Amino acid sequence: MQPLPTLRINEIFFSAEGEGGRQGQPTIFLRLSGCNLRCDFCDTRYAWEEGQEINQETILSKIVGFRKKYKTDWISITGGEPLVQDIKPLVEKLKQAGFKIQIETNGTKPITFEVDWLTVSLKPPDFFSTRASRQQATEVKLVVTKNLKLAEVEKVRKKFRVNIPLWLQPKSNEDWSYQRAWRLFEQAARGGLKNIRLGCQLHKIYGLR
Ligand code: SF4
Repeated sequence: MQPLPTLRINEIFFSAEGEGGRQGQPTIFLRLSGCNLRCDFCDTRYAWEEGQEINQETILSKIVGFRKKYKTDWISITGGEPLVQDIKPLVEKLKQAGFKIQIETNGTKPITFEVDWLTVSLKPPDFFSTRASRQQATEVKLVVTKNLKLAEVEKVRKKFRVNIPLWLQPKSNEDWSYQRAWRLFEQAARGGLKNIRLGCQLHKIYGLR
């Protein structure tokens, strides 16, 4: 049988999930290299280019090694943008090995397989998302930049089913962003927007990766 193609990987590590509805849970992270966007607030720029080609069997065995050490089945596949590479074969192997899979995506790329938890983090200026990412989303996230407006929060809220939480995610735990997130949250509540959540980046508070 032909070996699976390599994937360009930035890092594999254990930490606590830092954001969203799985915040605080022990998690193995697989960060892929490359992204189709270039957000000016990006806090993982190092993943745009840096990384190394690793064959999928090796990736799987490293992940299994982390599970032996840390006893968690959750893996968060992130980036960069993880869906710019063909990760479907790896995801299938991870599922066969009993992992629970979260993908953190910007929502602009097609997703042709199912996962246990899909975090869709839409990006300005157009907050575009594919139909598949909207249909499969477990949660939606917006980074609270200086330019984020209530009208954009409303627009994104309408794109997703109301039972999908929409997180306001302060940018890199900066004070102005917390204040802005709170103001947007308060306005959203007054305006009757459903299922809006205030978030934070736990890993940055704890000084973790
Ligand atoms: S989509 Fe994410 S990884 Fe890509 S540039 Fe924007 S913030 Fe960075």
